[in-house]
Amino acid sequence: MSLVGQQERESGLSQPPAHASGRHRGNGEPAKRGKPAGVRRRTMSISQVRRTGVASAVVSTLGIAMVNTTGIAHSEPPSLAELRTAGTISAAGSSQTDDATDDLSDPTLVGQQHSDDAAMQRRAQADRVDRDQALAQLSILLVQQRAAAERTGRRQDETQRWVRPIEAYLTQRFGGANGHPGIDLGAAYGTPIVAAHGGTVIYAGWESGYGNFVQIMHENKVVTCYGHLARLDVRVGQVVTTGQQIGLEGSTGHSTGPHLHFEVRLNGQDGTKIDPLAWLIEHGVTY
Ligand SMILES: [Zn+2]
Repeated sequence: MSLVGQQERESGLSQPPAHASGRHRGNGEPAKRGKPAGVRRRTMSISQVRRTGVASAVVSTLGIAMVNTTGIAHSEPPSLAELRTAGTISAAGSSQTDDATDDLSDPTLVGQQHSDDAAMQRRAQADRVDRDQALAQLSILLVQQRAAAERTGRRQDETQRWVRPIEAYLTQRFGGANGHPGIDLGAAYGTPIVAAHGGTVIYAGWESGYGNFVQIMHENKVVTCYGHLARLDVRVGQVVTTGQQIGLEGSTGHSTGPHLHFEVRLNGQDGTKIDPLAWLIEHGVTY
């Protein structure tokens, strides 16, 4: 009597796997045909993993072990037995408890082997899903970086661009016998004068000899100077872009006729005066 009770209790304890096994046997497949059944079950388990693969995309940060658990938790009725067994395999690493005992009590150890394979395939599939996800994210990152680099490249092109300060002819070079500190560019009175390069206006007003005078500070403390203007179109502190109009050509100050006196100074407002023509050529601008 007590033995029966014991068996009943054991039976009760091992009911879920027994029930699960029952479902497999309930398919009417003889134990001898375990191999084809195993193959089919494997296929099912892979499709199951594909489904759980989507879940793994969502919880990718939780890791593969967690994905396996999630897959089992969300398994569907048709493959309940399969997943039940797979659950044992997945959990084997962390906790070999009731399920492991139940499986040992199951005489169909061939099925256990197949379940091992299925679980391994499941893990492999999960790994592939994770890897594909990582590659996809990497691709997106590379595309974004390339776009950013192109934007930066365009900005750099713009910041490095220099233009003619006036459409005119070269009428006097730098240096010479009288130590000309710049170049003279002759054009019709009132021809627009533009910033040869983007920067900040550090002077805009009358200067002895230069007449109406503009100075623009660029990067690396390079300063361009514009003299004899008929009109000033900028004020001190104003930020100007490359090619932006700063005034009109004239003949103010010490001048014998309408022209732009143009200078380039290094190391600041009162820095070294260099040959503007050479500087312009160096920056792709010719007269
Ligand atoms: Zn001059």
